[in-house]
Amino acid sequence: MAMMHVSKCCFWFVLIAYCLIQWCCTVSCECFLPEEPIKCFSGNSNCTVTNSQGSFPDRSVCRAADAVYPATEVELVSVMAAATRNKRKMKVATRYSHSFPKLVCPDGEDSLIISTKYLNEVVKVDKQAKTITVQSGVTLKQLIKEAAKADLVLPHAPYWWGLTVGGMLGTGAHGSSWWLKGSAVHDYVVELRIISPGEVEDGYYKNRTLKEGDADLDAAKVSLGVLGVISQVTFKLENIFKRSITYKKTDDNGLGEDALLLGKKHEFADITWYPSQRQVLYRIDDRVPSTSPGKGVNQNFPLRSTAGPVLAANRKIGYFFTGYPIIGYQNQLQSAGGCITPGKCLLPSYCPWDPRINGQFFFIAGFNIKNSKLKSFIQDIQKLIKLEPKALCGVELYNGILMRYVSASTAYLGNDEVGIDFDIAYYRSKDPLAPRMFEDILEEIEQMAVISMGARHTGGRIGM
Ligand SMILES: Cc1cc2nc3c(=O)[nH]c(=O)nc-3n(C[C@H](O)[C@H](O)[C@H](O)COP(=O)(O)OP(=O)(O)OC[C@H]3O[C@@H](n4cnc5c(N)ncnc54)[C@H](O)[C@@H]3O)c2cc1C
Repeated sequence: MAMMHVSKCCFWFVLIAYCLIQWCCTVSCECFLPEEPIKCFSGNSNCTVTNSQGSFPDRSVCRAADAVYPATEVELVSVMAAATRNKRKMKVATRYSHSFPKLVCPDGEDSLIISTKYLNEVVKVDKQAKTITVQSGVTLKQLIKEAAKADLVLPHAPYWWGLTVGGMLGTGAHGSSWWLKGSAVHDYVVELRIISPGEVEDGYYKNRTLKEGDADLDAAKVSLGVLGVISQVTFKLENIFKRSITYKKTDDNGLGEDALLLGKKHEFADITWYPSQRQVLYRIDDRVPSTSPGKGVNQNFPLRSTAGPVLAANRKIGYFFTGYPIIGYQNQLQSAGGCITPGKCLLPSYCPWDPRINGQFFFIAGFNIKNSKLKSFIQDIQKLIKLEPKALCGVELYNGILMRYVSASTAYLGNDEVGIDFDIAYYRSKDPLAPRMFEDILEEIEQMAVISMGARHTGGRIGM
């Protein structure tokens, strides 16, 4: 009885503390948006460009002579023509710049960065045709929000909504599904406009509109940003629907076979694998009738603006989490990322990886393993763990290995076979010469994937 009283008191104490903190969040301090990745030291000249962690894999930032910020396609065309006439090298940068490798770095002393920061308009939502047309600097968050106003949704998308449309197409970004056209955003593109360098007689630029069925669309919809600047994109959407999510924890003995079955059986499945613990979490996630009760919201904790006390309170209390299954609308569940939402916080708050607060400094190595190689790849990792049981404990501190389903695509740089994408996140030292813990094992895994299994690295997460 006394125990019950104490735990009740404890519950109310934590609840009141939590509510107080949340109330303070609404009235008092700043949640800081991520810094601009482009910094110029003389107007828009003498610039550097970096990524969201403030550092590329070799711990450097890149230089560019100038940066430009077109807000319309007319301005973009004029920038492209002038730069082509002057034979300048150029690259496109986005508002948040999330890719790990140096895709955004232009080459040469006279190089130019074209930012899509102000190409951020939603051009049209066509409820009848179930399409949305957006400029390429629009974030996934904006896209989801605007589509939902017309009761439409993108069926599959990455889990982090800070990515831009141009960046997602640049790198072939994806969520997790083998259903419909698969989980890659580029496979839902029905029209794309791209501005590229042209000949003198073209006025030094080409403005191409590519539609579904054009072979060139298959080249342009995943391009690593080297074919020109994508100006605007039209995506095919679906009527809004509800999903039901639950998780099953088990050991990793049958992972090779179970992973294949799970993706076939559940539309939004994914797997989090903790190889050193020999455990897996299977995400069982499917559409349910819209009459199913539930208004679940994805507040993915690692992607929220975070201050210490809120972190602690959220861990202690299950107030907003009432148990599985979580049922809710697609636009509220697929992607998340509170830390790019301006607002008020109790303490100054940031994205967890923000370089201004010496935040998390991690790397995600991503590669896609074909179904035919999946079982032997998993078994090879399990054999390594038998030899060195603690080798992937470090990876588990970063939420283990995330395995997501990705289909074959018509995009030339997309997947040519159905497979599973492995994301391995781990701690990095700020010192580029400091060896990682169990570096040999991590490198062995990457070599097994790429050399023995013929895996493809994923665009924004190349190289360990
Ligand atoms: C926290 C976090 C979560 C992530 N989650 C996922 C996920 O769930 N799924 C996934 O697949 N990936 C994920 N990624 C990686 C991600 O795929 C890529 O890094 C991402 O697509 C980059 O998007 P961005 O808008 O930041 O583009 P950037 O990194 O700025 O640019 C990427 C490339 O696209 C080019 N580009 C950008 N815009 C244009 C344009 N308008 N025209 C032509 N080229 C252009 C750039 O030049 C560059 O080459 C994540 C990364 C982070 C840091």
